[in-house]
Amino acid sequence: MGATKSSSSGIKKIAAAGTMRKLMADHFYELDRAVKDGHPKVAWCTSVGPAELLRAMGFLVYFPENHGAMLGATRMATETIPAANAIGYSPDICSYLTSDIGAFLQNRTPLSNAYEGIDAIPKADVLVYNTNQCRDVQDWFAWYGKRWSSPVIGVECYRGVGDVTDVHVSGIAGQIEALIPTLEEVSGTKFDIDRLREAVRLSRKCSDLWKDVLETATAKPSPLTFFDSTIHMAPAVVMRGTQSAVDYYNELLPELQARVADGVAAVEGERVRLYWDGMPIWGRLRDLATLFLELRTCVVASTYANSWIFTALDPDDPFNSMARAYTELFIVRSDRQKERYIDNMIETFGVDGLIFHDAKTCPNNTNCQHGMPERVFERLGAPSITIAGDLNDLRCYSDEQAKTQIEAFVEQLGGRVEARPRGG
Ligand code: SF4
Repeated sequence: MGATKSSSSGIKKIAAAGTMRKLMADHFYELDRAVKDGHPKVAWCTSVGPAELLRAMGFLVYFPENHGAMLGATRMATETIPAANAIGYSPDICSYLTSDIGAFLQNRTPLSNAYEGIDAIPKADVLVYNTNQCRDVQDWFAWYGKRWSSPVIGVECYRGVGDVTDVHVSGIAGQIEALIPTLEEVSGTKFDIDRLREAVRLSRKCSDLWKDVLETATAKPSPLTFFDSTIHMAPAVVMRGTQSAVDYYNELLPELQARVADGVAAVEGERVRLYWDGMPIWGRLRDLATLFLELRTCVVASTYANSWIFTALDPDDPFNSMARAYTELFIVRSDRQKERYIDNMIETFGVDGLIFHDAKTCPNNTNCQHGMPERVFERLGAPSITIAGDLNDLRCYSDEQAKTQIEAFVEQLGGRVEARPRGG
């Protein structure tokens, strides 16, 4: 393995990124071709919707939240959100939804800038949601479904789940099975349980590798940051259930393991380790990555990137295990369960402090509003700050305020880390 290269900002480059860029290009060109040819059929799916079933039925699967993240990362969202506000979608609801619908109304997409020849997002033959994240996804899909006269079907999930029980599992599994007749009609393909088992097997394999990738960050110094993981999670998000995603993580994992073996730090001189809770601030990923680099601080783990780990998936019991995996998702759980999870992350990744992102338009993936940071501090003595912001709507985020907060927090933590007894 060659020496790790850095960008001009000092961010260490991950060599596998080249493969990922090609994979993503293939993914979008394949979808674009399918829409132009009318075959295979295209299904839209929410991020933790039943992608495995859709693949088993022969659909190409498109994830609008990934498009939402592209709108945020390119900052195109700032220009497109008002168009959705103008037709009645409040600036207070999900800014993935508003930026995506706004972009459609303005006839633009970041895909056109990234991939020559692609003029539009892929039109859906069917839209399949899971409300395990939020109701916004259902509304979002309903808007497109009406526009295109395409069926909108999905799974209505339990919320605030404590322990996941057989009642939860059978309720969700039944709803997943009930999607099959519509999917058969749209795809013209008969459901085949063996194809579903294969998609679930590949999805589980991808999830296991992604988990291993993220766990390399337990090493001190960490070989990757939260900001790296928001980029490299793309295949786990949009290609879950395919061999391509498995192949990608089989390439990325050894690269990171080699960094660990060689003591290569993602953040040179790593001094402080943080946990990020909540959504990324897509339009400021690079700025934040650079700021933390300068502060010799590594954001080693996050709830967000870990949300694509589905250890319950089991090809021998596809429907029940999909139901369990989708219901074990962090965002669906009770605060008590979420706190257990975060406690475990703090221990596992050797975290010095936490950053809670209070995302204005995503209360669903914001966990700091009901006393959680204070409870984490009481239990584990882990300090935190809360940053006001948003995933895509940069009007809700102040660069200066966030920078001041982060710098002060790291300074305080740096003192704590240095004062810690050796071996402690
Ligand atoms: S979870 Fe948040 S960001 Fe994701 S679709 Fe729902 S409201 Fe939008």
